[in-house]
Amino acid sequence: MPIISTQNLVKSYGQGDLEVRALNGVSLDIEQGDFVAIIGASGSGKSTFMNMIGCLDQPTSGVYELAGQNVSDLSVDELADVRNRRIGFVFQQFNLLARTSALENVAMPLLYAREGELANLNKQQQLEHAKYRLEQVGLGDRLHHTPSELSGGQQQRVAVARALVNDPALILADEPTGALDSKMTIEIMHLLRRLNYEGMTIIVVTHEPDVAAYANRVVTFKDGKIIEIHINEQPVGKSEMTMGQS
Ligand code: ADP
Ligand code: MG
Repeated sequence: MPIISTQNLVKSYGQGDLEVRALNGVSLDIEQGDFVAIIGASGSGKSTFMNMIGCLDQPTSGVYELAGQNVSDLSVDELADVRNRRIGFVFQQFNLLARTSALENVAMPLLYAREGELANLNKQQQLEHAKYRLEQVGLGDRLHHTPSELSGGQQQRVAVARALVNDPALILADEPTGALDSKMTIEIMHLLRRLNYEGMTIIVVTHEPDVAAYANRVVTFKDGKIIEIHINEQPVGKSEMTMGQS
């Protein structure tokens, strides 16, 4: 069973002559453990698709199943619940709280955990779990730094740790390297590659071919539709991991 399955997903904005079909019939399956890049020109529907699969918004029509659950008809509250439990987000602009330590930033989503083991952690346990995630992204020695005391690449790694803290089923990253220089871009993409190697399903929106080259599959959007799915036979960074380096 795919972790993500969309069937003929449509998202329209406006009505009548003003209607814009941001998504115009998108059918895509993504298996657990895949690493997918979504590319396409500005306005092609990439972010709209991410908002749908991230349960940030509801489709106009079509079906979206997340881990076998049909989430297309859920209410806004139910969607929020699925989102908090199952999906980790990474954005271009990091979206960290200023004047708040890396540790507290990463622990933040645990305050909203309402179900499962993570909902019952006390404050100390929340911080322990956040610390473990920061160690996982290589920032175990930066726990008490605030965003302004960290480089862009380090801030984005904090954001990745925050995305991981709820033990999500998948990570959605919309232009995660859009605000980073090329060295930091490599740092973040190697991190995502390693998390994928450890089993995490990852979906990245990007307009940079160098970033898409890390993915197993590259899905091209145009005018709200998928026009191509390309399989990267040798994703960048993957062979290093299968050789046991990182
Ligand atoms: P991309 O991320 O590929 O640049 P988007 O998904 O943001 O593209 O946008 C796809 C199309 O939908 C564009 O034509 C955009 O103008 C339109 N669109 C996106 N969001 C809205 C909205 N909230 N209201 C009206 N039109 C929108
Ligand atoms: Mg976009």
